[in-house]
Amino acid sequence: MAAAENDREAPSALCNEFLNFSAKDTAAKWLLASNLHKEVYQHLACYVPKIYCLGPNLNPQNEDLLAPLLLQSPLEWYLCGEEPSVGLAKLEQNNQPSQLCGHVFKVGEPTYSCRECAADPTCVLCMQCFLGSVHKEHRYRMTTSGGGGFCDCGDTEAWKKGPYCQKHEPNNNDSSQKDPLANMTEEMIARTYNVFSIILKYAVDMLTWDKEDELPEGLEPPVRGDTYYCMLFNDEVHTYEQVIYTLQKAVNCTQKEAVSFATTVDRDGRKSVRFGDFQFCEQAKSVIVRNTSRQTKPLRVEVMHSSVVAHQCFALKALTWLGQIIRYSDALRRILCQVGLQRGPEGENSSLVDTLMLCDSKMWKGARNVYHQLFMSSLLMDSKYKKLFAIQFAKNYERLQSDYVKDDHDREFSVTDLSVQMFTVPSLARMLITEENLMTTIIRTFVDHLRHRDLQGRFQFERYTAQQAFKFRRVQSLIGDLKYVLISRPTEWTDQLREKYLEGFDAFLELLKCMQGMDPVVRQVGQHIEMEPEWEAAFTLQMKLTHIISMMQEWCASDEKVLIEAYKKCLSALTHCHSGFTDGEQPITLCMCGHSVDTIRYCVSQEKVSIHLPVSRLLAGLHALLSTTEVAYRFPEQLPLSELSPPMLIEHPLRCLVLCAQVHAGMWRRNGFSLVNQIYYYHNVKCRVEMFDKDLIMLQAGASMMDPNHFLMIVLSRFELYHIFSSADCRKRYSRENAHKDVVQQNNTLIEEMLHLVIMIVGERYTAGVGQVESSDETRREIVHQLCIRPMAHSELVKALPENENKETGMERVIDSVALFKKPGVTGRGLYKLRPECAKMFNLYFHHYSRADQSKAEEAQRKIKRQNGEDSVLPPPVLPRFCPLFASLVNILQCDVLLGILGAVLQWAMEHSGGHWSESMLQRVLHLIGMGLVEEQQHLLSSADDNDTNFNFTLKISRPGEAPANTPSILALLETLQNAPHLEVHKDMIRWILKTVANIKTTRECTASAPPSDSSGHSQEETVRDKDKAERKRKAEMARLRREKIMAQMSEMQRHFINENKELFQQSLEELDPSTSSTLEHSPSSCDSALVCVGPRRWRAGGSERRQMVTCILCQEEQEIRTDGKAMVLAAFVQRSTVMSKNRKRPPHNPDKYDPLFMHPDLSFGTHTGSCGHIMHSHCWQRYFEAVQAKEQRRQQRLRVHTSYDVENGEFLCPLCECLSNTVIPLLPLTKTSCSSEQPDLSQWLSITSQQMKALLSAHRKAADAEGVDAMDGVNDCPPPDGFRLDYTPKNPYSSTIKEMLTTFGTATYKVGLKVHPNEQDPRVPIMCWGSCAYTIQCIERLLVDEEKPLFGSLPCRQDDCLSSLTRFGSACWTVSSHTTVQNHFIRLLAALVPDPRVENTPCVLDIDMFHLLVSLVLSHPAVLCLDSSGLSADAAQLHFLHLVTVAHIVQILLTSVPEEMRMEQEGGGAEREEEENACMLYNTLRTHLGSGLHEVSSGWHLWRCVKAGILPYLRAAALFFHYLNGAPAPPELHTLGAGELEALCGYLCLPSNLLQLYYNNRELMEPLLHGWCSHPGVLQGLQSSVALIRFPRESNRLIELPGDYSALINQASSFTCPKSGGDKSRAPTLCLVCGAMLCSQSYCCQTELEGEDVGACTAHTFACGAGVGIFLRVRESQVLFLAGKTKGCFYAPPYLDDYGETDQGLRRGNPLHLCQERYRKVQKLWRQHSITEEIGHAQEANQTLVGIDWQHL
Ligand SMILES: [Zn+2]
Ligand SMILES: [Zn+2]
Ligand SMILES: [Zn+2]
Ligand SMILES: [Zn+2]
Ligand SMILES: [Zn+2]
Ligand SMILES: [Zn+2]
Ligand SMILES: [Zn+2]
Repeated sequence: MAAAENDREAPSALCNEFLNFSAKDTAAKWLLASNLHKEVYQHLACYVPKIYCLGPNLNPQNEDLLAPLLLQSPLEWYLCGEEPSVGLAKLEQNNQPSQLCGHVFKVGEPTYSCRECAADPTCVLCMQCFLGSVHKEHRYRMTTSGGGGFCDCGDTEAWKKGPYCQKHEPNNNDSSQKDPLANMTEEMIARTYNVFSIILKYAVDMLTWDKEDELPEGLEPPVRGDTYYCMLFNDEVHTYEQVIYTLQKAVNCTQKEAVSFATTVDRDGRKSVRFGDFQFCEQAKSVIVRNTSRQTKPLRVEVMHSSVVAHQCFALKALTWLGQIIRYSDALRRILCQVGLQRGPEGENSSLVDTLMLCDSKMWKGARNVYHQLFMSSLLMDSKYKKLFAIQFAKNYERLQSDYVKDDHDREFSVTDLSVQMFTVPSLARMLITEENLMTTIIRTFVDHLRHRDLQGRFQFERYTAQQAFKFRRVQSLIGDLKYVLISRPTEWTDQLREKYLEGFDAFLELLKCMQGMDPVVRQVGQHIEMEPEWEAAFTLQMKLTHIISMMQEWCASDEKVLIEAYKKCLSALTHCHSGFTDGEQPITLCMCGHSVDTIRYCVSQEKVSIHLPVSRLLAGLHALLSTTEVAYRFPEQLPLSELSPPMLIEHPLRCLVLCAQVHAGMWRRNGFSLVNQIYYYHNVKCRVEMFDKDLIMLQAGASMMDPNHFLMIVLSRFELYHIFSSADCRKRYSRENAHKDVVQQNNTLIEEMLHLVIMIVGERYTAGVGQVESSDETRREIVHQLCIRPMAHSELVKALPENENKETGMERVIDSVALFKKPGVTGRGLYKLRPECAKMFNLYFHHYSRADQSKAEEAQRKIKRQNGEDSVLPPPVLPRFCPLFASLVNILQCDVLLGILGAVLQWAMEHSGGHWSESMLQRVLHLIGMGLVEEQQHLLSSADDNDTNFNFTLKISRPGEAPANTPSILALLETLQNAPHLEVHKDMIRWILKTVANIKTTRECTASAPPSDSSGHSQEETVRDKDKAERKRKAEMARLRREKIMAQMSEMQRHFINENKELFQQSLEELDPSTSSTLEHSPSSCDSALVCVGPRRWRAGGSERRQMVTCILCQEEQEIRTDGKAMVLAAFVQRSTVMSKNRKRPPHNPDKYDPLFMHPDLSFGTHTGSCGHIMHSHCWQRYFEAVQAKEQRRQQRLRVHTSYDVENGEFLCPLCECLSNTVIPLLPLTKTSCSSEQPDLSQWLSITSQQMKALLSAHRKAADAEGVDAMDGVNDCPPPDGFRLDYTPKNPYSSTIKEMLTTFGTATYKVGLKVHPNEQDPRVPIMCWGSCAYTIQCIERLLVDEEKPLFGSLPCRQDDCLSSLTRFGSACWTVSSHTTVQNHFIRLLAALVPDPRVENTPCVLDIDMFHLLVSLVLSHPAVLCLDSSGLSADAAQLHFLHLVTVAHIVQILLTSVPEEMRMEQEGGGAEREEEENACMLYNTLRTHLGSGLHEVSSGWHLWRCVKAGILPYLRAAALFFHYLNGAPAPPELHTLGAGELEALCGYLCLPSNLLQLYYNNRELMEPLLHGWCSHPGVLQGLQSSVALIRFPRESNRLIELPGDYSALINQASSFTCPKSGGDKSRAPTLCLVCGAMLCSQSYCCQTELEGEDVGACTAHTFACGAGVGIFLRVRESQVLFLAGKTKGCFYAPPYLDDYGETDQGLRRGNPLHLCQERYRKVQKLWRQHSITEEIGHAQEANQTLVGIDWQHL
């Protein structure tokens, strides 16, 4: 590394030279130069290597300072001819900026598009422009930018309306036409031209330079050292891990450095990983190459000379500089464009811009980004040059795409990505099509890249390699380009455009021809297929092309000439396809019902068949479009229809539909899932528009041109059903065909499918061109049928409707006419419900229903009808009329073959048993008959005027069947069936048919045009019983139909059921739970005084009231809670908490050294205990837990999966409610105390206690001495007071199991609270238990305030039980600890109140949370009291503690009170005069102790107000504590909200309502204490320090405020940069909802080490901010994230909703989102009540995939 050392010295040596440099002089020299190019190059050759790349680490500070000074400044001087700042300002002033906003988007920045006005969805606005635009009030879409692209504000072509925002509104005179150069002097133009051409050339040369050790001519450095860089380049093949691992090996760096290298390589595209002499770098290179070449191609590494790297660095800088300088003036920008596009010496495509584009794939990411940015801010911003650039881009298109396909970088880093900026501009797109033949170029380029064909020239994706798959993925972006070009349809056509479009159409047909018939399948018989064939690639292609195909048709539709030409071309393409493959088809003749037709022999079940028929389908689309034209109506003979061969048209679509039918019938089971998937997508909303729908249209088109009998015979033949219906005695199927049962079943399904197809061919008329409808009618009908299934949310409807290329469904225009919107509540989402009057449009055989949809819709519709008291029959709806070209289709209904089929099925149905017909089959037949009748009614209605009625369905069905069978007519059959007992289900339909027939007959008879009466009338004779029976039968039938589906959903439903009912289950249990019986509360008091909870006068429970019976949830045995009984425990969850923290900046404590005895009033870390309230025997629980442990061990060994709970950490799920738990709390009875009379008053008691303390202290010290621990001298031997037996060891009253459980819970609290290993001997165990008790009570107190609930009586039972057992446990936990330890704790605690010089490290009153102190004192005191035999009572002591702590708290409040605001009026002053004066006096006493430390206050009113407000939370917490400790019921005033709370609390706590009397009544005693507190040095320090004091009352913490509009958050996140990787955009910005910190989540750059593991930013933050629990908002995803620890997490619905009452997780829909306060409060409540971890547990139990996520990396 010697070289490096030397070089670092260089800059300082050169400093002088730099200082003497004058940019002005240099520029002046250049002005005189004859060869400016040479001069500038010399300058660069000299200076660039002196500034850039001088050491291993680049030194940006130096460069940023020196480069402008030495390199850019002379250029600017030269350009301006004067001081640059002056010159540039002048330029800016003269500039008339164009009206384009052109703001370039950052990654993740919000973009807005108007669904109503944008020319296409790529037209977007930046946030600023959007807010100033008219579209704000429109229906808009909000997305986040992927980076790149710019704001289209001001582009009149991008917006149909409102192209300008307020800011970019052009001022009246039209400046856009003026030449921007007009304002500039000739000289300046010339100078600018010179500079730009030299610098741009330099930059282009350097960035495209591929020699590692040489420089271009004229740039060779004066001195050349042996300094090299080992440069590592980015690729998308190697993973982060591979790169990091390799680097550690190759250049001996730490893992951290390697991560940083890898991150930079990924971001910038390259990074030097070693600097030094050539040898040194070469060595690293070889290691890297060797290590990465094994599986894939090696990482790209180059050893480059430092001067080359330096010039490349400056070249990037120079491009950035160009981008900056052209911002001053449009004139500069135009000159730069001119320079860039000027043709170079090599002729065509040799300009600098061309050179850059053509080298794009060779450059590294960073370089590409910089020059793409420059293109965007120059070429694409200049109207004239944008066009010229677009032409160059189009000329190079094929080459650029080929480079891109070979390259491995993402498209956003490729120059090809700029296509969207040009191709979406309609005028440019049109120009490129006509002048550069762009359409043809794109399509040809695309086809060229898909080279895998079969013998017939069709695409073949089978057996294609990963390499080809990769290429296939990349080449798909060409389809995107084609889409851009086609997205706006021309309003006017020129002959040239027609010519070029049709040329493109030809190319497109070539593409489709390669797809026609691809991926053919053959039915597998015998064995199951061995390997699932590849099918996805072909479908991907189809899916990607779907919109293109639709757009092609729309272009054709906009010009009649083009349409007819395109139609001809398509037809000849189809003919060509058909001639291509003849699968040995033999001609045959079919005869039926006196008709005959010639066709070929072909069986779908035996020969090849393909789902891909894009050419046929395109023709079908064009045919429907032709049908809408004027020509079709007036002169159909002019259409090229004569060339059509209808049988040829229908052949392939029919085969495809038969294939679907056969798959449904189970005939293709052995072909595996790939076929099932293909059929699924064929019908799926994403594909069906250009697949299934068009096949249907093709059949309609073909059938409309054929004799309906012929058509149906061919259909029967392809369905392989011809033999069934053609035989003379087909009506006796049951007797004849007793073949295999499976075959009969199969044929039944095929007949059903065939009938359904006929229904669809005649009935589907909602495509414009087929029926006389508009596209909005089609959408409306689609919506109606979705809503007939059930009410749906907006997003569900959107998903069910096909989207066009603009991602619009047309739903908004029509939804209100067919549906009503219902708003959501706190959960769920808004729903659309069908308008009742639209139900009549319902068609049971709607072609887009799946079988499941159909049965659901049928059930729902019948139910509604019944509820309305109507007949539940669902007759076919009235349909729109066919267009003339399709008009003949109605004749299918009355043709002989169909009537024959209908008659046959009805005849079969006469027979009850046999399985030779099915309910569905019959239902379809009845539906078809119904359709015929409805059609006839319509004809009668419309033909009333023109008197032309050749549609006479009733006549046809009244005629008896053909001879020889001489069978009954259809009508006769129906009349017979009407009474068949086995057909109850269909009776209502048959009845409806017969009635309608009667109606029609009457209409026909009265030649007058009396309209038929409503056909759904009720006949009286039918009995209710009949109907019921029919109903039951129908239900059975439905059940049969749904069985399959139900089976599939079974497991899903089970889980759902359990989840739904768990809550119910739990609730009812809580009601019954004996432990929650409220016998303890409200019972009459038995002792002397009423409703006091502390002190000698407190309420005492009688013997019977103390008995408490509970039931174990595991063994169901009842058990009494007794000190000496079997231990009963409560499932509990202990967690660390920062919910109440007032100081999130406090660093976490060192768990090994931290002394938790005193809680700081900032409550920064607490230990919270919660419980689900379920009770077990301790031994039952132990057995259960052991079983869980064992099961978990087995499971982990076998499956290696995580569970939602961590058994090794003692976690388990409550056996009843599955609530997450990690320990158990023992249940204890109330402690027995007797009302002892005479007790010492406070001063006596204090003196006794201090004597006791002295004795204890000296005894403890003596013991320590004896053990040889450092002895303390000067401690006098203090004699203990009377009755105080130092050597006494009290008997533990608890049974062994209770003792065990006391230890268990204590240890768990200690372990979790301090994050340490369990150690039951640790002296901090009892402290943690008391702390958890105090903290939990404080939390609950806050929660009750926040929820505006009264202190008592509103807690759920489980919390009530939890607090009560937690408190009683607290009072008992000393019994299992070392008594000496607890006594010592007590001594130290007391010293904080009664200063004691012998006790050290006592905190000052400002640093103590008084409630914690109170709880600890009360709970530790028994360890001292037990030594006393003189009759001191615990009750008296508790009261004394309460008094002392309360006074201390009042002092604390006064010390920290905020100075009074400037306000004069004192409402209500005087009513509490005494208190106010007392407060004032006490405050002044404090001032005498502290002097200037306290500000002056004159108003006692203000002070008393502070005290009252400040002390309330403490009193409330104390009331809860003593309530649970002593079991005293609370007075009724505390069961309600309202005034007088303070008085009620004081009464209950045995305190005077003037709290200051506590001080004044014992003034002599208190004065020294006060003095002691104030003289603690900490007090003055605290008051004077700049750190904010904790003031009282402490406000409840809330989650941060969120903005009302979600895009404000997106905007905030988009300007957030990763804090670790220097200004880089963060990929997953995530907001902590607790503290508002924005984090760079889910990314390597921000991983940190936590307890020896690498964790993501969120997990790391969670530990600091939430003590392990975190609540985040993932901004890009619009998703709430809950984290707990390192392994647990779940996603939660965000509190943002769109106008349809739905969330948008993943921001996929892009509807504007607004904050829903109610939902946000729900999240806040979960947090405040410490339920986040529990919520995660439930989420993970419900959704196992959540368990597998690596939460710690978020
Ligand atoms: Zn803008
Ligand atoms: Zn604007
Ligand atoms: Zn708009
Ligand atoms: Zn039990
Ligand atoms: Zn439970
Ligand atoms: Zn936070
Ligand atoms: Zn980061």
